[in-house]
Amino acid sequence: MTGRSSEKHALQSLSGVGPQLAEKLGRINISKPEDLLFHLPLRYQDKTHITAISDLVPGNSSVIMGQIQGCDIRFGKRRSLLISVGDDSGSILLRFFHFSRNQQSSFREGAWIQCFGEPRRGTHSLEIAHPEYQIFSDQTKPLLEESLTPVYPTTEGVGPTVIRKLVNQAVSNHIGHLIDILPENIRQEFGLMPLEQALKMTHHPPADADTKALVAGTHPCQQRLALEEMLAHYLALSRIKKYRKKESAPAFSLSGTSWKTLKDSLGYQLTSAQRRVVDEIFKDIHSSVPVLRLVQGDVGSGKTVVAAAAALQAIDDGYQVALMAPTELLAEQHRQTFTQWFDDLGFKTQWLTGKLPVAQRRMALETIANGEANMVIGTHALFQQQVEFHKLGLMIVDEQHRFGVEQRLALRSKGNATDSHSADQVPHQIIMSATPIPRSLAMILYADLDVSSIDELPPGRKPVRTVVIPDTRREEVTSRIRDICDSGQQVYWVCPLVEESDKLQAQAATQTATSLQQQLPEIRVALIHGKLKPSQKDAIMERFNEGEIDLLVATTVIEVGVNVPNASLMIIENAERLGLSQLHQLRGRVGRGSDQASCVLVYQPPLGNLAKERLSLMRETDDGFKIAQKDLEQRGPGELLGTRQTGLAQMKIADLARDRQLIPTIEKISQELYQHHPELITPIVSRWMSQSEQYANV
Ligand code: ADP
Ligand code: MG
Repeated sequence: MTGRSSEKHALQSLSGVGPQLAEKLGRINISKPEDLLFHLPLRYQDKTHITAISDLVPGNSSVIMGQIQGCDIRFGKRRSLLISVGDDSGSILLRFFHFSRNQQSSFREGAWIQCFGEPRRGTHSLEIAHPEYQIFSDQTKPLLEESLTPVYPTTEGVGPTVIRKLVNQAVSNHIGHLIDILPENIRQEFGLMPLEQALKMTHHPPADADTKALVAGTHPCQQRLALEEMLAHYLALSRIKKYRKKESAPAFSLSGTSWKTLKDSLGYQLTSAQRRVVDEIFKDIHSSVPVLRLVQGDVGSGKTVVAAAAALQAIDDGYQVALMAPTELLAEQHRQTFTQWFDDLGFKTQWLTGKLPVAQRRMALETIANGEANMVIGTHALFQQQVEFHKLGLMIVDEQHRFGVEQRLALRSKGNATDSHSADQVPHQIIMSATPIPRSLAMILYADLDVSSIDELPPGRKPVRTVVIPDTRREEVTSRIRDICDSGQQVYWVCPLVEESDKLQAQAATQTATSLQQQLPEIRVALIHGKLKPSQKDAIMERFNEGEIDLLVATTVIEVGVNVPNASLMIIENAERLGLSQLHQLRGRVGRGSDQASCVLVYQPPLGNLAKERLSLMRETDDGFKIAQKDLEQRGPGELLGTRQTGLAQMKIADLARDRQLIPTIEKISQELYQHHPELITPIVSRWMSQSEQYANV
């Protein structure tokens, strides 16, 4: 019996599921009835009661009941049908962009209407776009649900109704066969609800359940599931770490003197945080157990010199080192730094970039393959192609502040493949990131890594002076730009993601650049955005770096690691729409020189309370950890790390920000499982994660 076909068959045992639907469900990793049990609601709709119109809160979907007061077609940017609905407390607009003549005539003045939808602030009053609705000729009893309505993730060709029916079937027919993998004693010790009960309640919240808790995701039934899901991820990652530790890497002797020579010539003392992290790394690489260490440190905390320390230990022992940067520009900056440091020590730094002409590229590859090149610096892209090393001992990845598990794994296999001369050894790896992750979260997100933090900036840094002003005071900003440029310094103007599409963003930035150039004719303005080719972007950044551009208008493409010390003013438009960590990264582009730098956060009034709080935090603190913590609380880890790429953002029910307090319990349970029930680890991981997410067989 082959597992797969019997599973498919199992799914088709549900009524209404044929081969086609089974195939579509397979795309969202549902291949057996049990998977449906773990297809959990994304959220709930509360259709259990009527909300008075005056009590509606923007963003909170609610049921209202009222009388139709008017019906009108507007011809604005888009034609829309507007229905005004009133109850005793107030009135609201329903807005339809798509509507039929029939539909239009059904909205008779004076008729009663019950609707459900998400109210938003419109120009004059609250509006609900495309609500679910029912019209009644007379005042009648509203049609309400007894309990919360679960909203499930759907997929193309499998709508909400179908999914809901299938889940219901699975709950009725299959939940009895489900095994609670967590042993009884663990469940008791940590007060966890039995799995069957937790699933039942989550899929069909009883009428008397705590609605608020369910909507917030904090109900014990959801927490039980969230805990198990986070546990599964943690186990999957920690298992990878255990596998890796079984492989072998070169143990560096730490007996060379190059690092000491470099350190003595730097002209500054390492901060105590840098010293601590260097020690941690030295301990790692002195051992033949391959390390994968994440070095996180705020922008400007001095990660580069720490990387150099590690690199020199490898090179002194005759190994090669690879350093990867996310952009050509950063790679170029590293090349300059490392060439300057390593030439004096007699080591060859080889640059590997897309810009190299073919002949030079061939030469470069040759010096890498024959071992002449000690230190190889390039972009990720280049390392993904076939590069053969003579003797690669250490791989360093810079500014990978948005990398996910999959990328990590890809790099790891690269480490195996690149080194043709010692197939049984893998290089050590260091990953450097400027997004500080709060410790508790790092434990889960980075369970497959060792983590070091450079949590201190070099002395004497002047914090960037930050001001927050409304868009209405743009004039002041323009005159500030003129002053700064007159004094020979440079300015960034960032127009962030107002629109989802690259194209529209580019358009918005283009308009801003044009109008700034009109207002400031004497200033050299240039524009950079994501629609440009990498070579075009690099060319512009280079001119900015050389001082040939005064004012650089940009989308958020400049976020990563660019270093132009002469730039001392940054203006960020629509700052209220950006996450704190992103603002912090952007702001980190200025204040790299000796001049006092400033950052102007421009917002569109009016400012909501949350946004107000966020922007004032930016004004008050320069501490990346504080900022990351706040960002995590407000927007969740997806925002902090880049949504899809965390590898963990795909969780079904757990929310790493909301459920952080579960982490210590998860660690304890995981220890207990490893000690007393190691055979349960694979079943838990497989239950919660699809094949591709399990990272198990890599
Ligand atoms: P990041 O962590 O953002 O990569 P860098 O390594 O680029 O930071 O360092 C930022 C700047 O700080 C560099 O100009 C570097 O020379 C300087 N720097 C690094 N460590 C120290 C230190 N301990 N004291 C003074 N300056 C330092
Ligand atoms: Mg850096």
